[in-house]
Amino acid sequence: MSKKSLLLILTCLLFLFSTNACKRISTKKENNKELVLASFTVLADIIQNVAKNDFIVKSITKPGVEVHGYKPTPSDLINASEAFVFVDNGFGFEIWSEKFVSNLKVKRITIADDLDPIFINEDFYKGKPNPHAWISPKRGILYVDIIVKSLSEFRPSKRELFEKNGEIYKNKLSKIDQEFSLFVKNLDKDKRYLVTCEGAFSYLANDYGLNEVYLWPVNAESQITPKRMARVISLVKKKKVPALFCESTVSNESQMVVVNETGAKFGGNLFVDSLSMDEGPANSYLGMLKHNLNIIKRGLD
Ligand SMILES: [Zn+2]
Repeated sequence: MSKKSLLLILTCLLFLFSTNACKRISTKKENNKELVLASFTVLADIIQNVAKNDFIVKSITKPGVEVHGYKPTPSDLINASEAFVFVDNGFGFEIWSEKFVSNLKVKRITIADDLDPIFINEDFYKGKPNPHAWISPKRGILYVDIIVKSLSEFRPSKRELFEKNGEIYKNKLSKIDQEFSLFVKNLDKDKRYLVTCEGAFSYLANDYGLNEVYLWPVNAESQITPKRMARVISLVKKKKVPALFCESTVSNESQMVVVNETGAKFGGNLFVDSLSMDEGPANSYLGMLKHNLNIIKRGLD
């Protein structure tokens, strides 16, 4: 028995695992396909569209789950040890991933290694890269390129297939990109304000020429200050911003205060760090982008 299998079995016994997790040890490759493990659902969906049926693709964090500060479970470790590659976003998004992969012998792809960051300019996070690059369709296209390139390096015989799948998927992203570009182009310059709860839309704002305004910079963990709240209220009034938004995984309570103070309408919830459940409006990356951009269009138009 290899050291790795022994470790897995010991881990299993130690944590008195659900039969499901233990069963997986004996079925190392489902249907003889290798497992690609992503850190979050958005990334898993992009990878699935490149790999199609050639790999099993799974996400460690499930839909609707908080990703930044996720605490991996023993069963996540078992799944990861079976994977051929672990893919994470980087830019400090998954606070847990360094420690998580440190004891695993899997290959790793970190998307941020090949992306240009936008830096956060505020508070405690000043100078750190904003992690939410996928939120812009233009960057989503880069995610696809990075995944195609990296998976092809690991499995050169599949290069053509990955490239073909990537092209088809990128065409769909380009369509979303072009539609949103056109929308912003036709929007009055003084109406180009995107006011959200969290500063998760920097890449979208930057890539499409919107002014980004938010109540807190990265995660709900940094509390909103009265000073920041007052600044947002004053700006919304001054610029007559018609609609304000919030992210689906955080409370919109503070944003509703701004709504009540300014008379702007609440435009809706946007998806950022996680896809929705299957029955939700954002159960794929393309679906998430379409949902977000439609809500923004409806609010600002
Ligand atoms: Zn986030």
